[in-house]
Amino acid sequence: MKLQGRTAVITGSSKGIGKAIAELFASEGAQLVITGTSMESAQETVNEIIAKYNCEAVPVALDVSRVESCEALIKTSLDNFSKIDILVNNAGITRDNLVLKIKETEWDEVIAVNLKGVFNCIKAVSKPMFRQKYGRILNITSVIGQIGNAGQINYSASKGGIITITKTCAKEFASRNILVNAIAPGFISTSMTDKLTEERKQTMVSAIPLRRFGEAIDVARAALFLVCDDSSYITGHILSVNGGLYM
Ligand code: NAP
Repeated sequence: MKLQGRTAVITGSSKGIGKAIAELFASEGAQLVITGTSMESAQETVNEIIAKYNCEAVPVALDVSRVESCEALIKTSLDNFSKIDILVNNAGITRDNLVLKIKETEWDEVIAVNLKGVFNCIKAVSKPMFRQKYGRILNITSVIGQIGNAGQINYSASKGGIITITKTCAKEFASRNILVNAIAPGFISTSMTDKLTEERKQTMVSAIPLRRFGEAIDVARAALFLVCDDSSYITGHILSVNGGLYM
């Protein structure tokens, strides 16, 4: 088992990509902190994962855009497991609109959750990880942060920012044996992409060399690689999981 004895905090793990990461980590022996925006959504996933993998897991209600909420997440994790080996910054939202039409609130919400949320969680976990002299931080960015997308100025800016956060933290944290990497998924079938019209999905699929959307497990497998000992000489890397959409 690749994560035996490791404790992993995964933001936005009540569903979608975060839940797939949590399940794979549980199957590899990790203890988990599962978060949703409500205690109910986190608890439901915890119950499911414990029943399936007989692992230790605790639920936390989290709003990554609020500093106090992220600090409370790290405190609860330490209270339960005494250490945090792995932080996966996965929580994210979309509020798509064209530049001409986008509202200030749509810009602010996406930047607050996707970009400031990553900063908040990294800042909160940095002290305990520095003390431990061990850590793996994995940020979930997006192909849209690499290539941009019409109708997603807020989302693309937030995801582009995560790429530079990843490289900056990789440089600052390396001396403490804390590795910081990111995954840039392409289009993955989750509730986030379920919102797209069939027509838009088809247009996107035709631009993907592998001619299909990815599955959450495709991202989870890459996540496992980047947090386990197989990748102990990799830091500051942005791993594409995108079916060839961007090379
Ligand atoms: P999803 O199914 O919509 O799940 C989003 C998760 O984030 C949920 O657990 C949700 O909690 C949580 N969340 C939402 N707002 C939050 C907040 N303010 N504070 C804390 N948690 C919050 O999305 P997904 O498709 O799995 O996406 C996961 C990550 O991958 C995101 O960062 C997304 O940008 C990125 N990504 C996705 C794709 C894709 O095609 N799906 C592609 C590239 C990158 P609740 O369920 O409790 O509300």
